[in-house]
Amino acid sequence: MQTELDKHLMTQFLGSDQLVLASNNQGKVTEFSRLLNPLGLTVLPQGDLQIPPAEEPFATFFENALTKARHASLASGLPALADDSGICVTALNDAPGIFSARYAGIGATDQENNQLLIQNLQGVTNRNAHYVCALVLVRNPNDPEPIIVSAQWRGEVIDEARGTGGFGYDCHFYLPPFEKTAAEISLELKNIMSHRALATELLIQALIDRSTS
Ligand code: IMP
Repeated sequence: MQTELDKHLMTQFLGSDQLVLASNNQGKVTEFSRLLNPLGLTVLPQGDLQIPPAEEPFATFFENALTKARHASLASGLPALADDSGICVTALNDAPGIFSARYAGIGATDQENNQLLIQNLQGVTNRNAHYVCALVLVRNPNDPEPIIVSAQWRGEVIDEARGTGGFGYDCHFYLPPFEKTAAEISLELKNIMSHRALATELLIQALIDRSTS
């Protein structure tokens, strides 16, 4: 639990008690709000400010998250938070990686992406994979010291889809300790263990450290 002094220092460090989120995904807006509101920060999805999505032309999650955060900060005049995430499969040289949302082509559905992934893993025994989440927070578009963190969530890709929860690759992302896929565990559990949850924890800790040091 943050003290009023911590919250004040954080607002002072950021120059605002509002953060633009460089995403319009309602799940992410809700999740980031739940975690950041107790720190005295309000999360505004960029769409609410009529900010269009940025291009994501880079080869790394970090660069894409940074460019999205800068774009949202420039357009809004506020500090901005961006995430970039995906699934990396060891036997496929970490593909689909940054192309996770469009693995089977631009506009591909989750089902089409999953189908291609399973097809590309036919006959492959090493099924190790991990989700990655990179998070970047900039205080302004020219911030020379963005807060940058990332986290991974390890599992295995299975051929058969299982479960109806989650999204994306979750129904094929098997978690051996639970003997379930990410689509079979509860949302509460996913929100504690996932790459996004872990990265957000790191971000909050880094934000507290930077604000209070
Ligand atoms: P985004 O850039 O965070 O919106 O995610 C890129 C893509 O990575 C998504 O469209 C999904 O295909 C995949 N992805 C990222 N996080 C997850 C997750 O938690 N579960 C399933 N798929 C995910």
